[in-house]
Amino acid sequence: MKFGGTSVQDASAFARVAEIVRGESENSPVVVTSAMSKVTDALIDAFDAAKKGDFESAFASLKPHFERHTKVAEELTGGAQQKSFQIELDFADKELNELFIRVTRRSLPLQMLKDAIVSYGEQLASCLLAEVLKAKNLNARQIDARRLIITDEEYGAAAPILSETEKLVQLELEPLIEAGEIPVLGGFIAASRSGETTTLGRGGSDYSAALVGAALRGREIQIWTDVTGVLTCDPRICPEARTIKTLSYEQAAELAYFGAKVLHPKTIQPAVDFGIPVRVCNSHQPSMRGTMILPKADTTPRIVKSIAHKTGITILRITSARMLGAYGFMSAIFQIFERHRTVIDVVTTSEVSVSLTLDNTDAIDAIVKDLTRLGQVKIESQQAVICIVGEGLRGTSGIAAQIFSTISDVNISLISHGASSVNMTFVVKEDQVSEVIKRLHRKFFQVS
Ligand code: ASP
Ligand code: MG
Repeated sequence: MKFGGTSVQDASAFARVAEIVRGESENSPVVVTSAMSKVTDALIDAFDAAKKGDFESAFASLKPHFERHTKVAEELTGGAQQKSFQIELDFADKELNELFIRVTRRSLPLQMLKDAIVSYGEQLASCLLAEVLKAKNLNARQIDARRLIITDEEYGAAAPILSETEKLVQLELEPLIEAGEIPVLGGFIAASRSGETTTLGRGGSDYSAALVGAALRGREIQIWTDVTGVLTCDPRICPEARTIKTLSYEQAAELAYFGAKVLHPKTIQPAVDFGIPVRVCNSHQPSMRGTMILPKADTTPRIVKSIAHKTGITILRITSARMLGAYGFMSAIFQIFERHRTVIDVVTTSEVSVSLTLDNTDAIDAIVKDLTRLGQVKIESQQAVICIVGEGLRGTSGIAAQIFSTISDVNISLISHGASSVNMTFVVKEDQVSEVIKRLHRKFFQVS
C-alpha cells in the first residue's frame, strides 16, 4: 500500500491512512509512504540555497515543515510514540544542519549530498506514519528502505539492482509479515552498494512500492493518491468524467504520457514482470474502488476506455522528394533529434514526408536548422494531441469512422493508429481540444 504526498499532508490525512491500513490489516500489508506534500520541494530548495552559500536560510526554510510533522505527532500520538518521533525529528534537524554546511563547503560531491538531504522527507514521513499506526493500535514498524533497496550510484535517478533488492526485501520483511507486523517504509529512497543514500527520481515512491510488492509476490499493489483512479477524460473539461474500472498494463502505459496523475510505466514494471495487479485509489474517498491495472484488461462492452489529451504540442513536417525510395533518411532525421536531446512523441510518414510532434521545443531553432539540410520544414505550434485508448481498437471495424464522424467539422492535422492495438492518436488545434473531448466523451460514454 503506497501513500503519496497528499495522502499524508496533515493530521487528518494521516488518520485516514491509518483507517485504510486497518481495513487491510488481515491481508498482511506492507506500507510505503512518500514525504508529506511539498516537503521534497522544500528540501531541494534548501539544498539550492545552501549551494549558494546560504546554509542558514536553507535551514530556516525547513522549520515550517518540521512543525507540520510535529503537529501531526501531537494530534495523533502521545507518550512513547510522540517521544520516539520527536527524537527522530531532532536527529534529522541536526543531521540536515551538518549536511547544509557540507554543501556550502563542497566537502562531498554535491549530487551525493543532495540525495542525502532530500531523503529526509521520506525518512521522517515513514517514522511518523509508523508511530501514528502504533498509536492507533496497529502492529507497525518503521523499516529503513535504504537497507532493502539497492541501486547503482546514479544520484538523483538511481536504478535499482533487482536481484539484490529482491533478496533483501524478502529476507527483512517476510519474517516481520509472518509475525503479524506491518512494515512501514519510506518510498523514493535507497542506497548504493557502498551504503550511500540514493533516490529513485521524482515520483519514485511508486517505483519503491512496485519493487517491494514484486519482491514479495504481493497479491496486489495499491497506489493511494488524491484522484479516484484513472478517469475517462480530464474532469476539468467534462465534469461527467468517471473512473475507469480496469485497464491493461499496456493501456495504462499509453495513458501515462498524458496525465501526470497516471503511473509512469517504468515504475510499475516490477509489477508487470510478475503479473501483479496495481490498483490506483483515492485516500480521500477510500470506499470508491478506483482503477485496477491488470495484465490483460477484462473484455468490456465498452471499446473506448479513455480519452486523454495534452496541449502545448508543436508539429514539425519535413518534406523531401529525396526521401522516395531512399534508405537512411529516417535515421538521418531521428539523429538530429537525438543530437539535440529532444523527445519525439507521435510520428507519421508518407512516401515523401515525415510529421512528428514535440512537447519540448527548447532546441527547436537548432533542430529546424539541421532538418532544413534534409528537406523543407514546416512548424505548426499550439496543437494538442488526443489519444483514445481502448481494447482492440485496431481490430474493431468502424471505430475510426465513429471517432471522426463525431468531429467531422474539425481539422485533424495528423493521425497515428496501429502501432499498438490499444490506441488511436491524432492532433487538432489547441483551441478546439475541449470541444473535441466533450463531443467524443458524449459519444462514447453517455449513458442514455
Ligand atoms: N517525495 C518524492 C517526490 O516528491 C517521491 C514521491 O513522492 O514519489 O518526488
Ligand atoms: Mg507521485
